[in-house]
Amino acid sequence: MAKVLLHTCCGPCLIYSYEKLTKEGHDVTCFYYNPNIHPFKEYKERLKSVRKCCKELSIPLIVGDYEMEEYFRRVAFHEDERCSICYNLRLEKTAKIAKSENLDAFTTTLTISPYQSIESIKEIGGKVAQEIGVQFLFKDFREGFKESHEKAKEMDLYMQKYCGCLFSEWERYDKRKERKRVKSNMET
Ligand code: SF4
Repeated sequence: MAKVLLHTCCGPCLIYSYEKLTKEGHDVTCFYYNPNIHPFKEYKERLKSVRKCCKELSIPLIVGDYEMEEYFRRVAFHEDERCSICYNLRLEKTAKIAKSENLDAFTTTLTISPYQSIESIKEIGGKVAQEIGVQFLFKDFREGFKESHEKAKEMDLYMQKYCGCLFSEWERYDKRKERKRVKSNMET
């Protein structure tokens, strides 16, 4: 059993991840730190659903600062690698908070999503753990994605339509961008 800080991206991804960790006997604290979520109203909407979920499931919650500038500074001129940079930013902060709170380990709900790169998260989590000096408890939560989202609907939690950053919002809603991407995939 370990005291674990669970980096949390949103309410729907939290439910299964939290339940799995507690079933394994871990003592879990939730950490909402997502400066990659834009615009601010969307960030607040997701935070609201995390607060609701934590209240209903009695999970202790720590809310990090909204360091949006830090996200854009790190990603600027590296837009094609933005997801690795984004994972690093969030996991690095989670590891630092886990250490300062005297917890044993940290992990993340990001690995529940089939849309994220689990290999990249695993690698970055391990690197950050070594740098900060606190254990990364790697978990593959993907088998619980559907169940977690069904429970979220039952709890009437907010369900987001895009990953988080402005880039992902653009890709989600700009049909021309989508068509361009499909065309270039077909050409390669
Ligand atoms: S697409 Fe998602 S993981 Fe990638 S940078 Fe944007 S918010 Fe972060």
